[in-house]
Amino acid sequence: MADRRWALCAGPLKAMPEGELGRRSSRAPLRWTTARIVRAMTTSLHEITRFLDEHLRVRDIPDEPNALNGLQVEATQEVGRIACAVDATESSIEEACRLRADLLLVHHGLFWSGHRPIVGPHARKIGRCFGSGLSVYSAHLPLDVHPEHGNNAGLVKALGLTADGTFGRYQDLDIGLTAACDWTSAQLLEKVRAAVGPCKLAGRGPDRIRRVGVVSGGGGSFASGAARAGLDALLTGEGAHHTALEAEERGVHLLLAGHYRTETFGVKALGELLAGRFGLPWSFVEHDTGL
Ligand SMILES: [Zn+2]
Repeated sequence: MADRRWALCAGPLKAMPEGELGRRSSRAPLRWTTARIVRAMTTSLHEITRFLDEHLRVRDIPDEPNALNGLQVEATQEVGRIACAVDATESSIEEACRLRADLLLVHHGLFWSGHRPIVGPHARKIGRCFGSGLSVYSAHLPLDVHPEHGNNAGLVKALGLTADGTFGRYQDLDIGLTAACDWTSAQLLEKVRAAVGPCKLAGRGPDRIRRVGVVSGGGGSFASGAARAGLDALLTGEGAHHTALEAEERGVHLLLAGHYRTETFGVKALGELLAGRFGLPWSFVEHDTGL
């Protein structure tokens, strides 16, 4: 749980910028005039990491070999503010630093390409993290599939539905969720647009949709799996051209609501979860690619 510590801050409390109270003393203003002691709340990075590792089962959920789920950058030991983003882009890291966050939680981490030299944008990002004391924690598939705080769970809830099963095999895990409904494709499209954002409709399924499957991100390739699972529609982020044809031939509506937008749910849910558990302020850093 959160650990209350005493931190030194300069000047009267009311003159401190928003959120200053929750930061560690190393970031307090350097001009010490009327130094005073205020109570600030921080939590050890190790405690947060251990909680996330267990909660998301990062050691048990299979993933791409280079996803490196868990703590990716250890740049500080105490966390007073959290930022969440879908991607560990340079702009997300920059914004997290501007917000004075100590920990950035992301869905797509920094190390997708395996071993590679730390040069160019990769070097700038890692250098900025260490230079600013910003640690980075990444959760890819473990966050997609989490039954309560995952991207798929968030999508199902946003549609006002209740998950009743899983489908979409990846390695030895079903990564998609299923839910019952009774809508036309136009009604489902309208609900997705209201809950997620712009959405394209491809494929072709039955007039009434009674079972829908959800796979956040790039899940178009699960169209056949959706048909095999007896689903009438698949909601995902994006898919290759051939996945629309596959959906059409298999008799499934394919709804493409954007890789980015379908994966904002998990990191936001994690931010709220950590805020409640550890009493830390958190912010979502938006960086919508429109894809
Ligand atoms: Zn993704």
